[in-house]
Amino acid sequence: MKIAVLPGDGIGPEIVRQAVKVLNALDEKFDMETAPVGGAGYEAHGHPLPEGTLKLALEADAVLFGSVGDWKYDKLDRPLRPEQAILGLRKNLNLFANLRPAILYPELAGASTLKPEVVSGLDILIIRELTGDIYFGQPRGVRECPDGPFKGSREGFDTMRYSEPEIRRIAHVAFQAAQKRGKRLTSVDKANVLETFQFWKDIVTDVHKEYPDVQLDHMYVDNAAMQLVRAPKKFDVIVTGNMFGDILSDAAAMLTGSIGMLPSASLDANNKGLYEPSHGSAPDIAGKGVANPLATILSAAMMLRFSLNKAEQADRIETAVKKVLAQGLRTPDIYEEGTTKVGTEEMGEAVVKAL
Ligand code: NAD
Repeated sequence: MKIAVLPGDGIGPEIVRQAVKVLNALDEKFDMETAPVGGAGYEAHGHPLPEGTLKLALEADAVLFGSVGDWKYDKLDRPLRPEQAILGLRKNLNLFANLRPAILYPELAGASTLKPEVVSGLDILIIRELTGDIYFGQPRGVRECPDGPFKGSREGFDTMRYSEPEIRRIAHVAFQAAQKRGKRLTSVDKANVLETFQFWKDIVTDVHKEYPDVQLDHMYVDNAAMQLVRAPKKFDVIVTGNMFGDILSDAAAMLTGSIGMLPSASLDANNKGLYEPSHGSAPDIAGKGVANPLATILSAAMMLRFSLNKAEQADRIETAVKKVLAQGLRTPDIYEEGTTKVGTEEMGEAVVKAL
């Protein structure tokens, strides 16, 4: 099994190093090859997604990604900026399904802005369609308004659209993910107002026939936003389109209090995926040895579960992470009085020991 390791910029190399250490501590042999990406790619080869890095990502069974970006690249032309690397990887690898678990370990309940009883033990999975919807629909632009009361004035416009195959493939990912968890799926739409999302709802309902063991319900996006902060533990798996998913997944991330704890996966139709923490490159703390490596370590666990078919090893890593939290070890972002403050390296070591 070949893993492309792309550490990237800022805290990327520090946190990815810990995840690699954890993978090496399992009773499995992985062929891991590292390549520069983002600002590091630009420095090494003049492009955020160098040819060799893309080739490695295409050949590998999975990609373990750190993070990209640094303020020092803000003056570069847009196509050369570090963030373009992640967009290029999504496009070239056809990563259309974004999986973001929002888990709140009981030990960290105090880190959330919500009351502990509302979020303690939270374990939900948001699946966002990543390559369609209004973010990519054509036509789009600024034009002269063709009709209505503002005819003749300038207007901005975008196009919301979803094809049947696009909805079917994300629905299959969601039903299969639900089968591996609590067997409940909520499809979030705006079918009361938008034709695109009435169509979405009809197709998801049709795909459901192939998954009778999963309980499906539908929810309007405004209600879903409200329920996410009112009673988030009622959800198991949520599936939704690109724009609604963008907003809901960030809201869900914040339920858990710390961005340093949240992994993510972006998958193609064959479950090949790119795995990365939900946070960015945190240039403000890069090189200080204080970044929380757990989101990246948990991303590696997701990689084992979804792309490499090693669910048991994934469970082992997740259990080890729970164990170090129970031992009271905390990086500064999740530190509370009465716990033990550790750095990036020590946290990685502790997970290896717990394994
Ligand atoms: P960020 O997520 O990098 O940082 C936000 C805050 O969270 C900072 O205070 C940071 O110190 C803290 N933080 C983030 N990860 C942490 C961790 N593991 N442990 C402890 N604290 C952590 O977001 P930002 O500051 O808006 O962006 C910084 C750079 O990252 C930008 O260049 C941005 O474009 C890039 N970015 C990249 C990705 C990606 O690679 N997929 C995603 C988001 C942002």
